[in-house]
Amino acid sequence: MERYMKRALELARIAYDEGEVPVGAVVVRKDTGEIVGEGRNMRENAKNALAHAEIMAIDMACRTLGGWRLPRCAIYVTLEPCPMCCGAIINSRIDDVIFGAFDFKSGSAVSVQRMFELPYNYSPTVTGGFMEDECALLLSEFFRELREKKRMLKQSATPELKISENFFEKGIDKPEKL
Ligand SMILES: [Zn+2]
Repeated sequence: MERYMKRALELARIAYDEGEVPVGAVVVRKDTGEIVGEGRNMRENAKNALAHAEIMAIDMACRTLGGWRLPRCAIYVTLEPCPMCCGAIINSRIDDVIFGAFDFKSGSAVSVQRMFELPYNYSPTVTGGFMEDECALLLSEFFRELREKKRMLKQSATPELKISENFFEKGIDKPEKL
């Protein structure tokens, strides 16, 4: 369902504006079509390794539905879940995982490993590459901007360095020759 991934993308955009890697997620109750949990990546600002979009969305969904099981629920997430989030999906008994962009570095649904195919006591259905272009574009925009910022920071640091080098060359701080 496109509208759910669109909402996940809106949440990812908020994360982007907060300076976070832009990932958003929603948990949907399939029988009512209602969004019961929303989350976005907050790792930097929360200073917390657990603050991934999926964990935030699952946490809210558990509070909304009043239990650790999330039956008849699907999760829509803009980026392929990492091992921690795949684990949280298994532990919350979510029926279906629908993700956008593939993550070849830590995606554990299909890319680095296929965690949901391992013989755990529970496994959801997986759909990868759903609205992939929009999801991947937001991420590549973010990383391009980050690289530009880093480059600019480097450039602005150079003149200061030159000044101090010149200062030293004048011999002001140099010890007298013996
Ligand atoms: Zn994760």
